[in-house]
Amino acid sequence: MRYEKETKPWTPKTSLGKKVMSGEITSIEEIFKKNYVIKESEIIDYLVPNIEDEIIFIGGMPGKGGGKKRTPLRITTRMHQSGRKRTLHALVAVGNKDGLVGIGYATGKDALSAITKATTQAKLKIIPIRRGCGSWECECRGAHSIPFKTQGKVGSVKVRLIPAPRGIELCVAPEIKKIIRLAGIRDLWTKSMGQTDTRINFVMANFNALKNLNKLKTTPESIKTTGMTEGPNKAVTRPEPAKEESEPKETSEPEKQSKEKETPKDTKKEEEEKTKKQDTKTDTKKEEKDTTKKEDTKPETKKEQKETAKTKKQEDKPTKETKKE
Ligand SMILES: [Zn+2]
Repeated sequence: MRYEKETKPWTPKTSLGKKVMSGEITSIEEIFKKNYVIKESEIIDYLVPNIEDEIIFIGGMPGKGGGKKRTPLRITTRMHQSGRKRTLHALVAVGNKDGLVGIGYATGKDALSAITKATTQAKLKIIPIRRGCGSWECECRGAHSIPFKTQGKVGSVKVRLIPAPRGIELCVAPEIKKIIRLAGIRDLWTKSMGQTDTRINFVMANFNALKNLNKLKTTPESIKTTGMTEGPNKAVTRPEPAKEESEPKETSEPEKQSKEKETPKDTKKEEEEKTKKQDTKTDTKKEEKDTTKKEDTKPETKKEQKETAKTKKQEDKPTKETKKE
């Protein structure tokens, strides 16, 4: 899915996409000012070329010495006539490390499809972030923290973000650090209450707190004292090298060469993605492994299935032990 999108040139469908393509809108700040609704993720790719994405770990499985070990995807199973069917849930954060952040949530039958869906959703829900120095201990008026305290809430989880002086760094839960870093904030204190073990609520409460920064009305004096800035500080340059790539494609001979060169790269990408999938699969429980094996042997009767499963289990166990030894 991912490599198809990269190879295909973007043809905008919405009116906003056409305006961006024609050059009427040249920056993402214009979109925020005029309150346009973004319905194509390619708009973000076009206007913010230096965007990065990161998977937030929301899954859990029992750890080695008790407690929970976090896994990238949450897996839920439901019973069906043909056996157990599972759905994968992914939560992805997107940002440019300079005042732009979005979070997306999606489900899928496959790890790759769930993650790609979540990244596109995250790009659609991107917001500008107010930064500044609201700490009375610092008063440097830089954009290293947030300009004032905020709160966010989802379900029972309440989160409070507090501006910190320079050098404190992020006093934040490890998974939330990914979001705060993508937002471009370097120093922050946080306080959380409620059931923070429900990861999706916890993450979205933090995102809501960042959203609520934009709701407060400000005066010119408050902007001066906190050094507040909204959105990206550095001017985002449009992707000019993309045009240079498109020009040689028009000629006939280099086109073939480039295609020939590109194909092995794509296969490499696919291989990498496959390996990623395998890694995620290995993280899942042993039971699910057995279910996949059962699905492979569908034509047999139920009794035979049970017998085969038992024999497979017996076969698997000694091999694993030998590997460990
Ligand atoms: Zn400061």
